[in-house]
Amino acid sequence: MKRLKLRYHHLMCCYTFKGVGYNEAFSQNMKQVVSMLGASEELELHLCGGCDDLCAWCPHNRGGQCDTGESVCARDREVAAFFGLEGRKMLLLSEYRSNILPKQKQLSSIDEVCRKCTFTALCQQVLTEKNQI
Ligand code: SF4
Repeated sequence: MKRLKLRYHHLMCCYTFKGVGYNEAFSQNMKQVVSMLGASEELELHLCGGCDDLCAWCPHNRGGQCDTGESVCARDREVAAFFGLEGRKMLLLSEYRSNILPKQKQLSSIDEVCRKCTFTALCQQVLTEKNQI
């Protein structure tokens, strides 16, 4: 079975991704990751609180450590708690679709789950469009 390594808060980033990222290489990689989440093939999502398959192409990834500071780890913890995923290390794509995606579709504001980041305004715009609030 295919595997994808994702830090917890990237479950939200993938939900609101619309092609914009830190640079072209990052965005292209993220498109592939997001397409895996939309594919029919089952997938193991290996959840973590460190650098993952999205960070692999990020300019903020310094030797496997995110250089944006502690807030990114707090974001992981908060997103994990919001979706009831604390301590959960593996999630099947089918479980993501039945347990997490419905909660994402009910969100009206990014602030309900994510603290502020570079992309907050864009994520809110996409969330509003997607969830037709
Ligand atoms: S900013 Fe940090 S957490 Fe986000 S993708 Fe880049 S390295 Fe990963």
